[in-house]
Amino acid sequence: MLIGVPKEIKNHEYRVGLTPAAVKEFVTHGHNVLVQTLAGDAIGFTDEMYLAAGATIADTPEQIFAEAEMIVKVKEPQTNECKMLRKGQTLYTYLHLAPDPEQTRLLVESGATCIAYETVTDGRGGLPLLAPMSEVAGRMSVQAGAHYLEKAHGGSGTLLGGVPGVAPGKVLVIGGGVVGTNAAKMALGLGADVTILDRSLPRLRQLDDIFDGRVKTVFSTVDAIEHYSSHADLVVGAVLIPGAAAPKLLNREQIKAMKPGSVLVDVAIDQGGCFETSKATTHQDPVYVVDDVVHYCVANMPGGVARTSTMALNNATLPFGLALANKGPVQAMLDDENLRAGLNTHQGKVTYKAVVDALGEQL
Ligand code: NAD
Repeated sequence: MLIGVPKEIKNHEYRVGLTPAAVKEFVTHGHNVLVQTLAGDAIGFTDEMYLAAGATIADTPEQIFAEAEMIVKVKEPQTNECKMLRKGQTLYTYLHLAPDPEQTRLLVESGATCIAYETVTDGRGGLPLLAPMSEVAGRMSVQAGAHYLEKAHGGSGTLLGGVPGVAPGKVLVIGGGVVGTNAAKMALGLGADVTILDRSLPRLRQLDDIFDGRVKTVFSTVDAIEHYSSHADLVVGAVLIPGAAAPKLLNREQIKAMKPGSVLVDVAIDQGGCFETSKATTHQDPVYVVDDVVHYCVANMPGGVARTSTMALNNATLPFGLALANKGPVQAMLDDENLRAGLNTHQGKVTYKAVVDALGEQL
């Protein structure tokens, strides 16, 4: 199969669909890969590295979309990319169609077979192609929080790990899923005093086992959130209610009651945010202050560490990508219901129920 990797064109998107190492896997399996020039250059994956891995370099996206049988990307295709897709071609990338009728219409019109990373499943009800980005965002949340706790960055001037003779800073993680667990790992690694709140008792039990008593696990109630946030130096919002907007767990009054110079990192901002005062920010302008509390609400945190994120994403997408190339998309999806769950549009039809439910008459 001929696989095409265009350069991402969304503003400040430096990730790339395939790393040189992933290209080498496809080439080893007998496929050809066409990579747009400079597609990975910003994160240290040069054209020379792609050539050494066995790829051919294309000058333009037009050449890639015209020739490739499968396009591998990171972000949803932009309008001009959608218009280059065609029937018989496979698109393998993040799509997020439910809130996006325009993109959905264009993909349907193209007739292409579009597989969304975010709806591919695993056997345990998880979303294996979303998890790596949650791991990245969770680990980054504490790094960002520690940075903004510094005085010069607007924080209270607290070192999360403390020093001998000075107590460590307090980190509250609300939501103990993938993001929350990774945030807790980083905070523990820094030596902070860590509490995780979750509404799932089975999950709290697992966390207690994983961390072997080194973090406090507390059932998430209004009272617990109010109590622990008022003592915290850093609060990480990491909740998810699948398919729904994030619940608002801290209101303005409760935020006002937090310590001056404390930091809120709202990772759930991509689902609307879990603090009343949250509004989405960017890597160019990541923070703002409300009632003496620093807010970090970057909606695409993994984009900030695009090199690590690209490699983490490729580890997860590669096995499914190889199956699509080796067997052809139809046979690969017939053989694997988890991959089939990724199919969002095919030959002019929306094939994913939640997208039909969300967009219905708008299509
Ligand atoms: P997850 O499903 O693994 O974990 C969510 C956890 O929240 C679950 O354990 C659930 O029990 C818990 N929860 C739900 N309601 C709660 C409540 N009221 N109090 C306490 N806990 C509650 O999800 P995840 O992969 O960890 O993702 C968490 C959030 O991070 C999602 O909103 C996701 O979209 C977002 N995210 C954002 C970025 C970014 O760049 N900003 C990147 C990745 C993920």
